[in-house]
Amino acid sequence: MSGRMAERVVMVTGAGSGIGAAASLRLAEEGATVIATDIDGASAERTAAGLPGEGHLGLSHDVTSDEAWAAVFRAARAAGLKVDGLVNNAGLLSLHPIHALDIDGLQAMLQVNVVGVALGQKHAAHAMTDGGAIVNVSSVAGLVGAPMYNSYGATKGAVRAMTKGAASELGGQGIRVNSIHPGVIETPMAESGVEQLKIDPARLKRFYPLGRFGTPREVANVILFLLSDEAAFVTGAEVTVDGGLTAQ
Ligand code: NAD
Repeated sequence: MSGRMAERVVMVTGAGSGIGAAASLRLAEEGATVIATDIDGASAERTAAGLPGEGHLGLSHDVTSDEAWAAVFRAARAAGLKVDGLVNNAGLLSLHPIHALDIDGLQAMLQVNVVGVALGQKHAAHAMTDGGAIVNVSSVAGLVGAPMYNSYGATKGAVRAMTKGAASELGGQGIRVNSIHPGVIETPMAESGVEQLKIDPARLKRFYPLGRFGTPREVANVILFLLSDEAAFVTGAEVTVDGGLTAQ
């Protein structure tokens, strides 16, 4: 532990799995107190219980609910924690062709991927009275198009746009807001994505200049940097973590 996040309190949504769990661990390793939240409360509690250091919380939290956001911030205050970092990470993935639009899948993604991030920004803006930093987890699909990604890309493009709007609006309050854009990262969501695409992973990897998928910890390291003081002059940025996929 080298303490890059000492004295900091960071809330991570979707922390029960994948990138959120890895970010929680990486932030705690650097001294942050982590509030790990997930709609699957038991998984959030497991993440929190496995973190180094003391005082972490694991909470049940549906990011689509304004009241649930109010409740997790209340729980943080009740534990004496003033949140100064937020990772809007919870997300859903539904892949379908335009000809067979899955309207329920799109509506669900709009709720979690877009409304969830908007609510997170709102509650963080209220809570971060002494400034802070937000990382919104978008995707390469928020930057470029691909077959089957029309609906998911719409939600992740919205996250990119909201990030820039929030950076503009909240900069005066000392709040930095950045988006990250991962390519395929080895998580349960990516497994489901490969399944939905019915594509051989080895074939997909050939699209990546680095010839492989990323790991949750590689994404967590970028989240850590953007939340830390090392990124003090970085706001409104879109950072790809994609092994060069979108460089081509
Ligand atoms: P994951 O499925 O492993 O984890 C997502 C977590 O979000 C789960 O624990 C789930 O319970 C939680 N969640 C779902 N709905 C929720 C809700 N309403 N409220 C609170 N929590 C909820 O996925 P992951 O791969 O770790 O994805 C994390 C983020 O990274 C997502 O926003 C995803 O879109 C994005 N992303 C992932 C990849 C990838 O390849 N894995 C690539 C680009 C972007």
